[in-house]
Amino acid sequence: MLLLLPSALAWTTGASTWSPEDFPVPYWIAPGFGELEEAAAVGAIQAGFDTWASEGCGNIEFTYQGIAEDAVWGEKDGKNVVFFLSDSWPEEASLVSSPMLYSEGSHTVEADFALNGLNYAWGTNNVRWPSEMDVQASSTHEVGHLLGLWHSTDAEATLNPALDGSPEARDLAADDREGLCSLYPAAGSGGQGESCIDESRCLEGMICLQDGTERYCAATCDAGEPCGEGWTCLEAGGQQVCAAEETKSCGCSSGPGAHSGPVLAGLVVLLCLRRCVSQKSS
Ligand SMILES: [Zn+2]
Repeated sequence: MLLLLPSALAWTTGASTWSPEDFPVPYWIAPGFGELEEAAAVGAIQAGFDTWASEGCGNIEFTYQGIAEDAVWGEKDGKNVVFFLSDSWPEEASLVSSPMLYSEGSHTVEADFALNGLNYAWGTNNVRWPSEMDVQASSTHEVGHLLGLWHSTDAEATLNPALDGSPEARDLAADDREGLCSLYPAAGSGGQGESCIDESRCLEGMICLQDGTERYCAATCDAGEPCGEGWTCLEAGGQQVCAAEETKSCGCSSGPGAHSGPVLAGLVVLLCLRRCVSQKSS
């Protein structure tokens, strides 16, 4: 008898992810495509990015910025660059492709990746895998790394390293989607304390509260009503909300999570001023 078990989670994650406000994430492509035709290669790489953006989790979006003439593999230059390296391959020869992620704490600040054009033959259409690697499929695999996903043991996953370069990996498997949506939750799903950029991320009835340099979904409450362990009912923006009992930070305009500008007015409730004043006076 064949016993069918529900698939276990097979995806894994690296150390860092992008913040909601980082999207759309811009990317460039370095010049030089070996035997490949430039337009076809660029189109296949773009398709790899677009595959993840069309999943509907978080607000995943990428914008192609053009050819980065001066980009150097292994150099942190503030640009997210895709390389097709056919003259030399500085990583392990057996690797079909390789990511290079730069992070500050748990926050990804730059991500590059390279396709191994020295040790493998590549194609963009009707690819004869495994004697030839598919640019779109390998790019899709690498964009998964760029987003913070690591390798999966799921046999069908794009993030399964054995499928890197196989045309089969152009489409995401359920396992890849689960990983993506777990790292970048969909709109309207954020519970108390989950990070947000505006209230569209939070469950209905909740607000997105700017508390010092942190920003998280917060429930409204009546004064004196318990908010649950670690949370306290405080006034912010004319209403009572469940805020963290202890703040890690103070101030609205500093820190990488701080975001200002008229776009967010009305969508984010500010608690920072009140917190700073009360901290200073105590
Ligand atoms: Zn990989």
